[in-house]
Amino acid sequence: MMPTEATIIVVEDEAGALVTLCGILEDAGYRVIGLKKGADALEVIRRSPFNAVITDIRLPDVGGMEVLELAKEINPDAAVIMITGYASVETAVEAVNQGAYAYFVKPVNPDEMKTTIANALKQQRLLLENKRLVDSLQRSNKLLYEANEELRRATQAKSEFLANMSHELRTPLNVVIGFSELMLDGVPGEINKEQRQCLDDIMSSGKHLLDLINDVLDLSKIESGKVELKLTNIALSDVVELLRSTMTPMTAQKKQSLIVDVEDGLPPLHADEAKVRQVFFNLLSNATKFTPDGGTLKVEAVRKGNWCQVSVIDNGIGIKQEERERIFEAFYRVDTPLTKERGGTGLGLAVVRQIIEKHGGQIWVETEYGKGSRFMFTLPLATAGEPHPGRDRH
Ligand code: ADP
Repeated sequence: MMPTEATIIVVEDEAGALVTLCGILEDAGYRVIGLKKGADALEVIRRSPFNAVITDIRLPDVGGMEVLELAKEINPDAAVIMITGYASVETAVEAVNQGAYAYFVKPVNPDEMKTTIANALKQQRLLLENKRLVDSLQRSNKLLYEANEELRRATQAKSEFLANMSHELRTPLNVVIGFSELMLDGVPGEINKEQRQCLDDIMSSGKHLLDLINDVLDLSKIESGKVELKLTNIALSDVVELLRSTMTPMTAQKKQSLIVDVEDGLPPLHADEAKVRQVFFNLLSNATKFTPDGGTLKVEAVRKGNWCQVSVIDNGIGIKQEERERIFEAFYRVDTPLTKERGGTGLGLAVVRQIIEKHGGQIWVETEYGKGSRFMFTLPLATAGEPHPGRDRH
């Protein structure tokens, strides 16, 4: 005998058949409520829990169909099995259409009934388990959605706070730098060597702090969605040539050469000029910073459909594979003596990535440790929209 918690209501007006059926099911370990009248069945269904109902279709008082209807209404998961004589087979088929689990034609085979009940209860358990899982999945999804929303709001608040804070910090810092400059120029009076040394330190620390604040401000402004791109048509070679002169003091000091190779007939970019300049400045500053004296830097630009693909190449120290993605994260700097020596905020590439992505482009790096790096990015050309060319990653 298999003990089970399931309760089965059996409704059969023929006393002999009722006793046999109840006996078989009790032997199988079920809790059985045997009833002769349909009205009693309706009463029991209303007031006590049950898992399955076996009912004769033809009862002297209330019809089996009514028992089925109420059972399904009270417990939609319950299995209802109809028992019918040959004369009412059509009604039994109709009952199955209305949600009955199965029907048996009299005389009922006890083993078949036991198997059918066992299958019905198994299916019921699986259904309930499924429902429970779906419910718990929906609950987790809701929690996840709420947590995401919370995170999004927190990130937004953080970006806005940083943007406002950085903005407020810049004003007094500019005063510190400005007055240091004034004193170094001797405007308020002569200064001695030690005082000059102190002022130089104040100036360089102030400028470093200003760089950091400017980067944080740029990044947080873009992240908080405060930045609107001022899109115009711009010639890439003009931007690069302008940058070449800005970069000259840095490259000349390190005896590095800068080669520019822009594909002939490249259409203008459709982009924010100041932001594109910032992208080139950050990438070229890194290229010169992380390339030994005498190295070569190169800017290449080619057309890829309606996109311009730019490479900023150096033959410097390169980046280990495991650091390749992380360098685009805010404040991430590769831990090398050179990085420490050169200074920096770890925000340059994060800003670059935000700018490129805001234009709909992509940025990635191909690099070999010890040999050099090629930072590649795409920006839209001033031509009709075409799907993005994608990229080959190595
Ligand atoms: P920063 O230059 O201020 O440290 P970035 O976000 O611009 O910050 O760069 C993050 C890190 O990526 C750098 O600290 C450096 O370790 C690495 N990196 C960036 N550009 C290069 C490059 N051209 N060659 C080698 N390493 C680079």
